[in-house]
Amino acid sequence: MDDGASLPPLRDVINQYGLRAEKSLGQNFLLDLNLTGRIARCPGSLEGETVLEIGPGPGGLTRAILTLGAARLIAIEKDTRCLAPLQDVSDAFTGRLTVINGDALDVNESELLGAEKAHIIANLPYNVATPLLIKWLKNREQFKSMTLMFQKEVGDRITAVPRTKAYGRLSILCQWLCEVSPQFDISPRAFTPPPKVTSTVVKLVPREVPAFPADLKTLEKVVATAFGQRRKMLRASLKSLGGPTEDYLIAAGIKPTQRAEELTVEEFCRLAELYRKGQ
Ligand code: SAM
Repeated sequence: MDDGASLPPLRDVINQYGLRAEKSLGQNFLLDLNLTGRIARCPGSLEGETVLEIGPGPGGLTRAILTLGAARLIAIEKDTRCLAPLQDVSDAFTGRLTVINGDALDVNESELLGAEKAHIIANLPYNVATPLLIKWLKNREQFKSMTLMFQKEVGDRITAVPRTKAYGRLSILCQWLCEVSPQFDISPRAFTPPPKVTSTVVKLVPREVPAFPADLKTLEKVVATAFGQRRKMLRASLKSLGGPTEDYLIAAGIKPTQRAEELTVEEFCRLAELYRKGQ
């Protein structure tokens, strides 16, 4: 049968293969099939699509992605203990699942996928979630969408709007490069073992072109400098960039007395362009 119905319940898989959760690998397993299905439906139809999953673990979300019709699923898992249970999933969904044993941080997605564009779907290991997201943002032309589970605090930073505490570097980079939409929260109780904090699912769809013209490196530098001292007025916090930063602020239509968290993504891009041209 090619639908996973022959597979045992995930709790039995964990017991059978002795998958005691390792904290150092950020292992909090999701065993609720309603939730794994809900996450896997976030990108839209998976029929015929290629999907990249990071950290399949015992394979709950993996099963959901395959059940929803993904033609090809490449899953990258660091923990060798998970390879045998994932082989069972691979056998149940003949020829559609490829498991790579390795560190997702080291994977070159362009080499892996070639000309193909993939959806990323993952319940991310929290200790490497942000570096993975930054890596994928820089390689975004390879992806149709990213449906990612984070600690709520990180998810809130990705979707935050100006004049909120969560708004900062991650919000600006993500929203400049992607259409970002919060999906839903998941209580710690849904996981085995339960993490200390609530989790949240965020969907990011890479834009064909960034929302506003700017150079990535310059924008990152300006934003990092501004938020490095987020309580200070921009005329003070941006001084270390060098050059007539107050003139750039005025030319960008920004009051030098404003603070970093008050600027929109568009204003940061305008400022970064003026700074770049002044160099
Ligand atoms: N997808 C499973 C689920 O939803 O139940 C497991 C999610 S668990 C939060 C994170 C998974 O990522 C674990 O299986 C862990 O072994 C794996 N992992 C941790 N660090 C990794 C890395 N650097 N590269 C690839 N996988 C990693």
